[in-house]
Amino acid sequence: MTAFHYATTLEETCALLDDGEDTMVYGGGTAVQILLKQGVLFATDLVDIGGVAGLDQIEETAKGLRVGPLVTLRRMETSPVVQRVAPLAAEVYGRVANPRVRNTASVAGNIAHGDYRLDPPTALMVLDATVEITSRRGSRKVPAREFFVDFQQTALEHGELVTGIEIPKQPESAGAHFAKLSSLAANDWPAASAAALVVEGSRGKREVRLGLGALSHVPVFLQFETTADTPVDAVVEAAKDAASPLLEPIPDVRGSSDYKRRLGLVAVEEAVRNSWKEGSDDDRRTSFFGRRRRR
Ligand SMILES: Cc1cc2nc3c(=O)[nH]c(=O)nc-3n(C[C@H](O)[C@H](O)[C@H](O)COP(=O)(O)OP(=O)(O)OC[C@H]3O[C@@H](n4cnc5c(N)ncnc54)[C@H](O)[C@@H]3O)c2cc1C
Repeated sequence: MTAFHYATTLEETCALLDDGEDTMVYGGGTAVQILLKQGVLFATDLVDIGGVAGLDQIEETAKGLRVGPLVTLRRMETSPVVQRVAPLAAEVYGRVANPRVRNTASVAGNIAHGDYRLDPPTALMVLDATVEITSRRGSRKVPAREFFVDFQQTALEHGELVTGIEIPKQPESAGAHFAKLSSLAANDWPAASAAALVVEGSRGKREVRLGLGALSHVPVFLQFETTADTPVDAVVEAAKDAASPLLEPIPDVRGSSDYKRRLGLVAVEEAVRNSWKEGSDDDRRTSFFGRRRRR
């Protein structure tokens, strides 16, 4: 029988997690409840952190956003601040499951769940987000790109919990797109997903960043550099070539490994094609003023 604890402070939470042998945090409970009912959750104790004040704030900082662990996925989707500062994150959180799950699930529970098919890590990785982790020993920060260590295994160690996610401001000039392909139902887990962010660099350079979900045993991140004058078809081919060796999908009811690999390349193409803006910022400014002058 799993024992429930209702913590009211972070210190109490850390102590319970540290002292317990197999103690887990209870966030929104959308994953934990299912595992409990299926009889496959082996935690001896669960610490509900819903009563700890201050864990559900979205703050705009000088660098971007700081998101508290108990902020729901639905708030990430609908918050005007998130939509303005990190629109790709708002879009991706809004594509998780259905409103019932998004209204309850928390951002920390989502990443701590560690599932290789999760949608939000694709955006968090391309936006270069950082996960704040706290325990009795203090706090440390882990890049989202290094948080997913192995199959259903995260960087969290004994006694630790996620206490925040920092998301840098999405550059206004960046192109972004999230492609989620499901094979069972529209709001089901993805069979393949890809978030792309194309960041303008100096002297016509561009960085293409890709976060992939459901295409390996962990969320996958990759990036490569190209130039703004590269035709979009060539960029798409370069992205598929870079992603291809990293695709090792796990076969399940949503498709065979081979099917998901092919679907993964479709997701990569959709994400990159829709985030690529033809020409550099300078070119676009010139053509815009050119059009105005002709009127
Ligand atoms: C029907 C259904 C469909 C879904 N479809 C999708 C989908 O399409 N895409 C997708 O991305 N996800 C999907 N999910 C998964 C969903 O996103 C997760 O269940 C949810 O985000 C978990 O958040 P939670 O707050 O409810 O976590 P909980 O269920 O409370 O916890 C999940 C795990 O995280 C740990 N945890 C919770 N909070 C913390 C913390 N602060 N620090 C450390 N560990 C913590 C818990 O101990 C547990 O191991 C789906 C879930 C359901 C039920």
